[in-house]
Amino acid sequence: MTEKADLQSVLDRAAEGGRITPEEALDLYRDAPLHALGAAADAVRRRRYAGTEHIATYIIERNINYTNVCVTACKFCAFYAPPKAEDKGWTRDLDDILRRCAETVELGGTQIMFQGGHHPDFGVEYYEEHFSAIKAAYPQLVIHSLGASEVEHMARISKVSAKEAIERIHAAGLDSFAGAGAELLPARPRKAIAPLKESGERWLEIMEIAHNLGVESTSTMLMGTGETNAERIEHLRMIRDVQDRTGGFRAFIPYTYQPENNHLKGRTQATLFEYLRMIAIARLFMDNIAHIQGSWLTTGKEVGQLSLHYGADDLGSIMLEENVVSSAGAKHRSNRMEIIDLIRKAGRVPAQRATTYEHLVVHEDPAQDPVDERVQSHISSTAIEGGTAHPELKLLASN
Ligand code: SF4
Repeated sequence: MTEKADLQSVLDRAAEGGRITPEEALDLYRDAPLHALGAAADAVRRRRYAGTEHIATYIIERNINYTNVCVTACKFCAFYAPPKAEDKGWTRDLDDILRRCAETVELGGTQIMFQGGHHPDFGVEYYEEHFSAIKAAYPQLVIHSLGASEVEHMARISKVSAKEAIERIHAAGLDSFAGAGAELLPARPRKAIAPLKESGERWLEIMEIAHNLGVESTSTMLMGTGETNAERIEHLRMIRDVQDRTGGFRAFIPYTYQPENNHLKGRTQATLFEYLRMIAIARLFMDNIAHIQGSWLTTGKEVGQLSLHYGADDLGSIMLEENVVSSAGAKHRSNRMEIIDLIRKAGRVPAQRATTYEHLVVHEDPAQDPVDERVQSHISSTAIEGGTAHPELKLLASN
């Protein structure tokens, strides 16, 4: 274990942009004073974004949950229905999906995230058909969706290699992978919460294949299902090693486990301090990943604001639909005006970004902030069903 004086010198080295080892990262994560850790991470962020360090970004997207039928039965998941539970399983048809894409465009969204279960009948062909139909109708929408777990599943169903599966869905319209299914990559915690998912090594191998084919991705981490601090840092190391070879991970997004309606009930959630420490250590340790995202759907707006002072440069999305994390108890949600206000009150200038992080609109002048009357009137005229807001048109904020 690193001595106190040495801990400060490691922190100073990291703040100056020096690379730290996994052992040093673990010592900092465990023992560095919280605010010192945040200040070091913020120094790294400011240097990386010198000239635009006053800006924090968000994106407008829609999650499209195309099916909840899933054969993988992750223990932390409150969203899926096993194929045998016919009364609980559902699948959206293509017309329904295209209608959701149309609404996304109408509401100013730039990205869709296809997110759903591992349906036993959905091979590569299913995704080819859907992505090509979406791109034909709405070429302006970026399809930032799926992850290595879905690739592994669809390749198995279609009896093709992961490489062929990626090539085919990319040709059909997939722009980038959302990095879903990373959960916890080290073997012990992964087996404990997602025993039927591919191994962490395989998840990374598939991401590396994608990166080498020119399909970039983000990366994620599920915190708080009983993993140790050492396993959290090992997760970061595994991603950093692949990133050294490919450079294909655009961002890292840690989020906290939500304990409702699943088979892990009773597990301790990560505390908000642990979450902020993770944001900071990710910025310090993952020196080869450009963007660190505060995921405040699961932690709340105030923690989202704090994350911008602990190394995060982005607050993710205003979601036009989200059902997966919400099923497990995530209750924090917002609309565009709120996220702009939230970023301003955190001392940053808000900017709407593209999937690839270019700034689309920089909200320099508060007097010019969007009123979003179009969004409001759309919700009030179409989202009320039986006296309550339609759940799929609630404006949510998340990763
Ligand atoms: S997390 Fe995904 S793969 Fe796991 S059970 Fe839920 S829907 Fe299925």
